[in-house]
Amino acid sequence: MKLNIQDKFNKKLPADPVLENTRRQVKKACFSYVTPKKTSNPELLHVSPEMLKNIGLSEADAKSDHFLNVFTGNEVLNNTKPYAMCYGGHQFGNWAGQLGDGRAINLCEVEHNNQNWALQLKGAGETPYSRTADGLAVLRSSIREYLCSEAMFHLGIPTTRALSLVLSGDNVLRDVMYDGNSAYEKGAIVCRTAESFLRFGNFQIFASRQDDENLKGLVDYTIKHHFAHLGKPSKETYIAFFKEVSERTLNMIIHWQRVGFVHGVMNTDNMSILGLTIDYGPYGWLEGYEYGWTPNTTDRENKRYRYGNQPNIGLWNLLQLANAIYPLVEEAEPFEAILNQYKTDFEDKLLNMMRSKLGFHNEYENDQKLILELEDILHQTETDMTIFFRNLSNFKIEKASEGLKVIQNAFYKPEEVIGNIEKRWNDWFENYAERLKKETVSDEERKEHMNTVNPKYVLRNYMAQLAIDDADKGDCKLIDELFQMLKKPYDEQLEYEKWFVKRPDWARDKVGCSMLSCSS
Ligand code: AMP
Ligand code: MG
Repeated sequence: MKLNIQDKFNKKLPADPVLENTRRQVKKACFSYVTPKKTSNPELLHVSPEMLKNIGLSEADAKSDHFLNVFTGNEVLNNTKPYAMCYGGHQFGNWAGQLGDGRAINLCEVEHNNQNWALQLKGAGETPYSRTADGLAVLRSSIREYLCSEAMFHLGIPTTRALSLVLSGDNVLRDVMYDGNSAYEKGAIVCRTAESFLRFGNFQIFASRQDDENLKGLVDYTIKHHFAHLGKPSKETYIAFFKEVSERTLNMIIHWQRVGFVHGVMNTDNMSILGLTIDYGPYGWLEGYEYGWTPNTTDRENKRYRYGNQPNIGLWNLLQLANAIYPLVEEAEPFEAILNQYKTDFEDKLLNMMRSKLGFHNEYENDQKLILELEDILHQTETDMTIFFRNLSNFKIEKASEGLKVIQNAFYKPEEVIGNIEKRWNDWFENYAERLKKETVSDEERKEHMNTVNPKYVLRNYMAQLAIDDADKGDCKLIDELFQMLKKPYDEQLEYEKWFVKRPDWARDKVGCSMLSCSS
């Protein structure tokens, strides 16, 4: 196994001088050195062939003991010095102080094909940032992160990725629903990868400590290594940097809205500076199209991170980042202008994204009204988002009166689609047909285009849970089946048609399917 190791983060940035692995406040440093915990009986459950290739490894490499040992943390690669990053963050709207990689350990950075990949083990033991927790991860949350991050990539959504999923062979105590019922679960480790794992919180922690010197050092480092096209550090470059982070963040969230992904914990420590989807915890996929939905039971009261609020939270988080890097610029206006631009862009981009989901190529003023009416009817009775948009591509302009039939499968309670709701649907389809007449493409061409925007297969919450239940009993076939299917989410893939269905009834209120806690 030969990796082209090119460590930068732990070479160019200040390290915590304390080498002991004790929990503490770490000041004036970007990271602490830490060695992963040894696992008792590691077993490789799955590897991503695409990610192997990205870092320059072969499938044979992945079968070696060396690979297993390195990616479970049992062996440290020569000439590398694993570390945990120091960051802070706003959690659920409140400043939480220092957080840091409490159970993620960065192994090294690899360069291959002009791409930089930081390799990080999640669940490899405690670090100075573990606070009161154990630094470990359980199988269920690891499978969810492993499958979903790769699925997001194949959906065309900026994301961290996953290289491998292993069982550690050790048991981990968890209280899944925080109700006093702790139980042992299988421990697991995911090796996740990204160009960088820097988060908003890495910058916030220095700002919160008035440590402008290290703040500047980290911003300059980030620009040099990840935003090099912006040029040499200067006030203008810092503003351009913030602008790009803002644009990337919005772009990512618009994608989430398009596919119905709800992150669940958009705390600023879970916001990547590169605009990648990061930290797959109690995330979920919309089944019924519902602005107010969140999978995260920890957020049940306020629903701060509900589907319809994600673009607003992106803005709120960017404001915190602006506050953090403000000391380097000392002028508020440029930041305000960028944040105001986010607000305008977010309206425009959401509208255009919805246009693309409906198969509109051109823009008409009345589109907004048609979309608002659609969203309103979608909320009247529980309607499956994925099935609705996918099947809508079968709509025929000349058969507007059959619109309801085309999307019938999307209703969880078809018996509720009567009276006024039925009328509103029929009226909407009439208007939709009229609007489509303004386009120049045929029904067939429109369908083809819509099917590149509206995925047929997403990792529904219950699907991940089925894979988890099997894997817990030692059977990983379903992990692989879902992994393979989710590589081509926009293709018909008739062999997987059984997954193009609404959430089954048993999964409606099952823990892990519609209700997830932060316990992982
Ligand atoms: P999350 O909600 O997963 O983004 O985690 C928030 C913070 O808690 C981060 O600093 C994590 O590293 C830390 N954390 C979460 N779970 C654990 C764990 N089992 N052991 C140590 N730290 C953890
Ligand atoms: Mg996190």
